[in-house]
Amino acid sequence: MRIVVLAGGIGGARFLRGLKSAAPDADITVIGNTGDDIHLFGLKVCPDLDTVMYTLGGGIHEEQGWGRADESFAVKEELAAYGVGPDWFGLGDRDFATHIVRTQMIGAGYPLSAVTEALCARWQPGVRLLPMSDDRVETHVLIDDPEAGADGPARKAVHFQEYWVRLHASVPAHAIIPVGAEQAKPAPGVLEAIAEADVILFPPSNPVVSIGTILAVPGVREAVAEAGVPVIGLSPIVGDAPVRGMADKVLAAVGVESTAAAVARHYGSGLLDGWLVDTVDAGAVEQVEAAGIRCRAVPLMMTDVAATARMASEALALAEEVRA
Ligand code: GDP
Ligand code: CA
Repeated sequence: MRIVVLAGGIGGARFLRGLKSAAPDADITVIGNTGDDIHLFGLKVCPDLDTVMYTLGGGIHEEQGWGRADESFAVKEELAAYGVGPDWFGLGDRDFATHIVRTQMIGAGYPLSAVTEALCARWQPGVRLLPMSDDRVETHVLIDDPEAGADGPARKAVHFQEYWVRLHASVPAHAIIPVGAEQAKPAPGVLEAIAEADVILFPPSNPVVSIGTILAVPGVREAVAEAGVPVIGLSPIVGDAPVRGMADKVLAAVGVESTAAAVARHYGSGLLDGWLVDTVDAGAVEQVEAAGIRCRAVPLMMTDVAATARMASEALALAEEVRA
């Protein structure tokens, strides 16, 4: 069975670990979000691709969910001693090596997809990991400008990482803009994988800045909608709040309530055939089905690999149900 998963960072990566356990013989292609990518200290950092690669390859910092296990921060301390920032983005020494290799290969002319494949040759994630695009796409967030003068623009756009990591999404987001997406082309293999898939899964990743950004690459949304195979999503919102992180803030920016049903309607029946909500949101099943999306309530907390594998099995079972 060929499975395509559109994934962000932590939510996507943890789900994939369960999916691999639930479907050990499946051929899994992951289309990763690169809208979170940022250039720091002259290096290209791809947080979501790395989270997937490290999580599936056994190098992740488990409790934190991102970055490397057994990490040290000597380089960060030395940069701080030079007064070179930003100091709000955590890059450890081991992690730095990944970004150095990536930046060096890109400088030599390799596209991000080829670089990602090379990095995965070390990590052996057990899936085919493709960036959504080889072209630069950077998610920016429109916020109020506290330093705005009386007649200047009152708002400014900041890089998603500045909004998320430095500001902890604590200021209102007025718009989420995937800069460069309109001109971006899907990376080699992306549209082919979607067209050849037997099932397409949306893991419990951020619907706006992870899956939404992937879908914003021209051709991807259309390919998913027209693939003619079950498209099944799992809600990242449980009990009207994100399980982890601040997805409610970016959902609000696009006018979507933080409920499992509202996220399903946001994707819509043109894209989604099935949607899993947590058992605490069982009351939402009827609303989602009324929107033309098959819905089931099952436990959706990724507490360990076994629980996550059960979620993946439920998603695959729902896929077979809608296919029948
Ligand atoms: P990021 O790029 O690291 O922010 O990760 P993703 O976009 O892949 O996923 C973030 C989403 O995962 C958040 O909105 C969380 O609510 C969701 N999430 C994290 N852990 C769980 C879990 O155990 N269950 C569910 N249903 N969602 C989760
Ligand atoms: Ca991310």
